[in-house]
Amino acid sequence: MRAEIISVGTELLLGEILDTNAQYIAARLPAIGLDLYFQSTAGDNLERLVDTIERGLARSDVIIMTGGLGPTEDDLTREAIASALGEELFVDADAERALRAFFTSRGVGFPERNVKQAQLIPSATAIPNPRGTAPGWWVEKGTSASLSTGFQYIIAMPGPPSEMQRMWEKEVEQRLASLAGGGVLITRVLKTIGAGESHIDEMLAPLLKSANPTIGVYAKPDGVYARIAAKAPTAEAARDLIAPVEDEARRILGAIVWGADGDSLEGIIGAMLNERGLTLATMESCTGGLLASTITDVDGSSAYFKGGYVAYTAQMKMGLGVSAELIERYGAISSEVACDMARAARESFPGRMGADYGIGITGVAGGEEVEGKPPGTMHIAVHDGREAQPLSYAFYQGRAATKRRAVTTALFLLRRALLARG
Ligand code: AMP
Ligand code: MG
Repeated sequence: MRAEIISVGTELLLGEILDTNAQYIAARLPAIGLDLYFQSTAGDNLERLVDTIERGLARSDVIIMTGGLGPTEDDLTREAIASALGEELFVDADAERALRAFFTSRGVGFPERNVKQAQLIPSATAIPNPRGTAPGWWVEKGTSASLSTGFQYIIAMPGPPSEMQRMWEKEVEQRLASLAGGGVLITRVLKTIGAGESHIDEMLAPLLKSANPTIGVYAKPDGVYARIAAKAPTAEAARDLIAPVEDEARRILGAIVWGADGDSLEGIIGAMLNERGLTLATMESCTGGLLASTITDVDGSSAYFKGGYVAYTAQMKMGLGVSAELIERYGAISSEVACDMARAARESFPGRMGADYGIGITGVAGGEEVEGKPPGTMHIAVHDGREAQPLSYAFYQGRAATKRRAVTTALFLLRRALLARG
């Protein structure tokens, strides 16, 4: 079945908020066998909204809409669907009673405007929304334009993501899946770090010609991903198609695969440290604590993360035990100082941290030269108690991306050190 998504709201067109609803829904359609062909965004304008829905009805079996179900004048999704289908809106007595009860139970008066949210059309039934006041609409209409089932469907859900997501999970997804009744698309993502996109593409070349599953390679901030996607009548059959291809891809790529699907690099590293009973401490200059913050995004990280220093000035670094002589000789932005920061973080100047691994980061996060070093210069090191493993590069893509890349690289270095240790 052909599906399309219509996101409603002028704030989306103005770029004030990101359309995360469309992303959420789009990511879930393949698994239930719906083919997404179009996504549109329409502002809070009746004429253009009707036009967008009509266009959808001319080419899709299922239209999934979010937004515009609020109580205010500019929330027009119901009006627009009614108009596109040539049906009359009416207030559903049961829904109105439920809505009034909702307000009374919270001890607030009922704003008469909200009656709007109890409206239906003959082809629509209400979809419950315990997280808010706006019910969704499930619209089912027998039409000649329908491409497969003789029916066309419009599903309208509220804009607030928490309301939309609950409604999707509990009320919509299964119903759509049984309508689609066909095959499913299951994907498996292998995440790699340490080799470029074109290199991975080349390595996987023997597998890339396959039509089912298909393999796609793309770069992300935490490395290069290989997506294996299989289409089959059931999820189980799709997984059976994926398994041998995944095995082969893993064999070809080897240790550069660090995880799959929802894994994060910091999560994987946390698990490795935990398993081995090892600990970590950090000293960061140009990443301002982002490394420590990323490490502590993982539940239970306090078991292996002893702590981290954010040290910008040379005095601060020296105060924490970094060699004044090295700073003097090589400059604060140097591989030598990154190594000594890793050592000092590990040993900790006051002698209390005493972690198994130390990480040091120093570099230029901004767009200007510092100490004659170009923007994006980065020196990162991991110290394991015997020696420091440094890595240096210069690559500037704006401050935020530069900091993020440094953190990813630091985690990559630590993973490499942990793998080498065995
Ligand atoms: P509405 O249902 O149009 O009144 O939307 C209510 C709120 O939901 C908006 O102010 C946004 O904060 C949020 N919202 C609406 N549409 C989207 C969307 N497509 N993605 C993410 N948030 C949204
Ligand atoms: Mg709106």
